[in-house]
Amino acid sequence: MGARPEDEEDGEVIGVRERGAGAETCSVCGAGLEERRIIYTQMRTGKLHVFADVPALVCVQCGEEYLSPETVDAVQKAFTEREATETIEVPLYRFERARA
Ligand SMILES: [Zn+2]
Repeated sequence: MGARPEDEEDGEVIGVRERGAGAETCSVCGAGLEERRIIYTQMRTGKLHVFADVPALVCVQCGEEYLSPETVDAVQKAFTEREATETIEVPLYRFERARA
């Protein structure tokens, strides 16, 4: 595996922001947020871990996802204390550099 050091780092949250208390609008674009269930992913010891059906607020315009601190805590706790419900196969695409 040609993973760079940052890929090995535990606790890296991909594409999800922790929501500040009382935030009602997207801090990226200012649009409204709606409650949705999202898929939360995290690299742990070089393996992608997936947490499904996580409650989040999602920006209706840009899609930015916000988790409450309580939800982040619950997810982190589950990642370390629970066994995975199931193991799934995930297609991997690698971005290829254009050739000159
Ligand atoms: Zn937004």
